[in-house]
Amino acid sequence: MLKSRYNSGIINFLRRRSEPALKIPTKTKHHAERCVMCGLCLPHCPTYNKTQNEAESPRGRISLILGLANEQLQADDKLRSHLDHCLLCRACEAVCPSGVEFGELMDGARSALAQDRPPREQRISLDKLATDKSQQRREAKLLWLADKTGLRTLGRGLGIPKLLGLERFEQLAPSIRKPHDWQTYYPTKTDKQGDVALFIGCFGDMFDQQTLDDAITLLNACGYGVHVPTSQTCCGALHAHSGDQAKAKQLAQQNLDAFSQLDIAAVISCATGCGSHLNDYEKLADIALPVCDINTFLSQIEWPASLQLKPLNKKVAVHEPCSQRNVLKENDAPYTLLKHIPELDVMPLPGNDQCCGAAGSYMIDYPDMADSLRQDKVDAIQNTQLDILVSSNIGCALHIAAGLRKSGRKLRLIHPVSLLAQQLVG
Ligand code: SF4
Ligand code: SF4
Repeated sequence: MLKSRYNSGIINFLRRRSEPALKIPTKTKHHAERCVMCGLCLPHCPTYNKTQNEAESPRGRISLILGLANEQLQADDKLRSHLDHCLLCRACEAVCPSGVEFGELMDGARSALAQDRPPREQRISLDKLATDKSQQRREAKLLWLADKTGLRTLGRGLGIPKLLGLERFEQLAPSIRKPHDWQTYYPTKTDKQGDVALFIGCFGDMFDQQTLDDAITLLNACGYGVHVPTSQTCCGALHAHSGDQAKAKQLAQQNLDAFSQLDIAAVISCATGCGSHLNDYEKLADIALPVCDINTFLSQIEWPASLQLKPLNKKVAVHEPCSQRNVLKENDAPYTLLKHIPELDVMPLPGNDQCCGAAGSYMIDYPDMADSLRQDKVDAIQNTQLDILVSSNIGCALHIAAGLRKSGRKLRLIHPVSLLAQQLVG
C-alpha cells in the first residue's frame, strides 16, 4: 500500500513530459522492484540530506527508474539530472533491509539512459585520458615541469586555467613527482613468501606514484615479489558508472588478459575506488581476479620478525572512502595496519559515514554538490586536533586536499602505506 501510494505520488509530480520512452533492462527493473519504499535509507543519502528533495533520495531515484521501466515517465532532462546527481556512494545499499543492490541498479539505469544521449565533451576527454597511457605520461610530465619551473603558479596568477576551461582540473591536480617507468617485476630481497601483481590505475599513475612506490617497498619488505604488467589499463569504473558498459567490458577484458596469466597470490589495488570495481569483473566478464586492497592484504599476512618500524608520536585520522566502507566493507583494515607503527594515535575522521563528494568524476561534473560535501570534511578536520590525515582512495584524497588548500589548512594527506613505508627501519 505504502509502496504504490508513494510511487504514484512522485510519478504524478514528474509525468507531464513528451520525450520518447526508454528501455530499462529487465534486470534493472527487478533490482528496483525489491524496494519496499520504507525510506530507511533517506537519512544516509548525502544528496537528500543536502537538498531535502525526495527525487534526490535513493527511494525517489528508484521510483523514477520504475516509472521509466513501466513507461509511465519519459527520460527528460529533469529526470536524468536526478539520476545523474547520485554519487554512487552506496550508503543506501549498506542500510537497506530489502537488500536493494543500488550500485547495479543505478549502473543499469545509466547505461539505458546513455543509449540515446551522447556524453558531454568534458566526459569524453576524461574517459579518453583515463585509458590513454601515453597521453597521461605526456600530461604528467608537463605538469611536473610547470610545477618545477614556476610556470604553473604564473599561469594560475594570469587566470590561464580559467581561460582554457581547465580551472577545476587545475584546482584538483596536486604538485606531482617526476613520472617514472615501471619495472615489470620487483623482486623481494628477503625470504620469499610469494608473488603478487600491482594494479596501477589510470590517475594513480599520474597523481599517486608515491603510494604505488611505497606499496612495492612494503610488499617487498614483507617477502612478496611484485609484478607490474605493462598491458594493464584503467579499471573502467568511470565508464561503467557513466553508462558506457561496452567500454567498461572492454577494459575489464584487457585487465583480465594482463593479470590472469600470472601465478600470483593477489592483484593488489591501492585505490579502493578501483579495487571495488575490479572486484565486480565477475559480473561483467564472468571471470574473477583475486583482487585485494593493499590495507587488507598487508594487515592479513604475517610480517617478518625482522621488519621494524620506527615509533611516531603523532595523531592520525583515517578518512574512510565510501568504496572501502560501503562496497568492500573493509574500513577496519587501515586501523589494523597502522597498529604496526608504535606510539601512533589513530582515530576515525568524524563524519566518515558521509561521502566526501569526490565520487570518481562527480567532483568535476557537479562541483557545487561535491564542494558542499567536501566542506563538511574540511570542517571536521578543522575541529579536530590532527597531524596527518590518511585516505585509501586517490580520488577522495585529491578532492579533500584541494578543499584543505582552499581553506588555507596545511595538513599532510597520504595513503596509509606511505605512512608505514616512511617509518620502515633500514
Ligand atoms: S531502505 Fe531499501 S527498501 Fe527502503 S526505501 Fe531505501 S532502497 Fe527502498
Ligand atoms: S548511492 Fe549515495 S547518493 Fe546515490 S542514492 Fe544512494 S545514498 Fe544517495
